[in-house]
Amino acid sequence: MASVTVTALKKKFGQTEVLKGVDVRVPEGHFAVLVGPSGCGKSTLLRLLAGLEEADTGKIELGDRDVTRLEPRDRNIAMVFQSYALYPHLTVRENLAFGLKLRKTDAAEIEKQVKRASDMLGLAALLDRLPKQLSGGQRQRVAMGRAIVRKADLYLYDEPLSNLDAALRAQVRVDIRKLHDELGATSVYVTHDQVEAMTLADVIFVLNKGQVEQSGAPLEIFDKPATKFVAAFLGSPA
Ligand code: ADP
Ligand code: MG
Repeated sequence: MASVTVTALKKKFGQTEVLKGVDVRVPEGHFAVLVGPSGCGKSTLLRLLAGLEEADTGKIELGDRDVTRLEPRDRNIAMVFQSYALYPHLTVRENLAFGLKLRKTDAAEIEKQVKRASDMLGLAALLDRLPKQLSGGQRQRVAMGRAIVRKADLYLYDEPLSNLDAALRAQVRVDIRKLHDELGATSVYVTHDQVEAMTLADVIFVLNKGQVEQSGAPLEIFDKPATKFVAAFLGSPA
């Protein structure tokens, strides 16, 4: 795992400045939540961290490594997406092993890592099933398994609960935090859901129109919102 330091990060799409100089610092082992309304730039920031988009200016560091201009494969980051893209014709075991096979990992190591990930996520009894034989929550757990089957310096989540119903959302939310604690990971989690942010985070970054309006511990932000926007979006009713 590694700390994350984002400094003065800017990104334009055409004429639109989507990130206007973002600073984010997540200490090693912390669970950070980026929260803000739809369109404020959360996914863009996450994609820049993952290397799926390139920054215009600014810097991204993992620990003491400057990764700003590195390709995704050289960053050692794992990402869980909003829609869990499982391969429908592959079993859970094959879905979990897929990325490791691509990296030419040897069979014994693959088996070991698949066992570790599936034990951690309660998927051990489901390894021979196909995705269509799983519930929504189980599928989301396989998607997480695909991300954690490889040890990464940083785990990124982009609204991973948004396709689940309310009951499952609460369950998988607990799973994600438990997983983070067991991995001893550094995590950055994106959501527009205030409750998710407040319950999951060690540290929250409130994003609005491409800028961080406030950062801090959940209660600190709740009790002392810095701006009208933060008060309306996250703060306690005055
Ligand atoms: P969020 O995840 O907070 O909802 P996004 O980061 O997805 O926000 O998008 C922020 C803004 O950037 C939106 O206005 C969106 O339309 C725009 N945007 C995102 N990706 C692209 C892209 N590849 N090309 C053009 N505009 C984009
Ligand atoms: Mg988004």
